[in-house]
Amino acid sequence: MIQFSYFKYKLYPQAALGAIANDQPRDGALLQIQWPDKKIGYADLFPWPELGDYPLDRQLFELQEGRITPLVEQAIWLGRKDANLRAKKVNALTEAPRIKNHFLITDCTKVTDENLSEIRTAGFSTLKIKVGRQLHEEVRWVQRILEQFQFQIRLDFNSSMDFSSYERFMSFFNAILRQKIEFVEDPFPYDAEAWSEASQFAPLALDQEYDKVQWDTLTGRPPFQVLVIKPARQDVDKALKHALAHELKIVITSSMDHPVGVAHAIRVAADLKKDYGTQILECGCYSHRAYRANEFSTAMIFQGPYLTQIAGTGIGFDDLLKVLPWTLIKAK
Ligand code: MG
Repeated sequence: MIQFSYFKYKLYPQAALGAIANDQPRDGALLQIQWPDKKIGYADLFPWPELGDYPLDRQLFELQEGRITPLVEQAIWLGRKDANLRAKKVNALTEAPRIKNHFLITDCTKVTDENLSEIRTAGFSTLKIKVGRQLHEEVRWVQRILEQFQFQIRLDFNSSMDFSSYERFMSFFNAILRQKIEFVEDPFPYDAEAWSEASQFAPLALDQEYDKVQWDTLTGRPPFQVLVIKPARQDVDKALKHALAHELKIVITSSMDHPVGVAHAIRVAADLKKDYGTQILECGCYSHRAYRANEFSTAMIFQGPYLTQIAGTGIGFDDLLKVLPWTLIKAK
């Protein structure tokens, strides 16, 4: 039988996290998972009740009752990868292709030109900007960035618009500026026809609207060109199959979760990069900066957009994980 222990933590956002999430502390738990073969692996459990997940305590309650939620299922899948690497005493980042990440901006009204120059100098070439809350300020901000800075831009509306407000937003940018928008993620709730219309302004990326797509009957070119895959939230093999079948580019992102989740997402991205090369675009795993620093985030060594080192075996953090006060879940 698989044995689970957990350690609850909080992450403290530096600013509002996007169109659906505010700046309040967020609850998550690290899971220590032990298999009957004695291998031990770690994974993150970081629910987004805003997206319909059970809150953390309910997730843990279900686990105690022997019921596996979709998030826990992914944690087990990732935890097993970690356990296998740990058993071989291999670090997840060694002998894996380097993964370049975009820089995430959750609230552009808080970002100065000086910040942007630093981000550019650090080596980031792509900004992902969460938009959809203060459209007037955002559109002007994005326009200025497109005009004055050498960044490629990704916009994420978290489905907060409707077609006409989206059309209005995008019509502020002329054709030249629009070319610098690599893609727009989830402009509004998925609707094949409306998305198809919307794709005239910029290529679209599918993230949270993933489950609304009728994958089984989808034929020809879908109205989106990019698929965002979050290993902490999605069956990666299934999503990969869809991406390959419809020639979609792939962006692997963290779930804006704990550094343990970040490390897992980067390892998954590196594994896919080995097999699919340029089909894997710049990823979105550099998300720890959206929160106040903690001892895990400071243990991740980044060189600009690349995570280069986390000491330890598997996804790392051995010294930190070892001393956490784990609570064993006694299965019924
Ligand atoms: Mg998104």
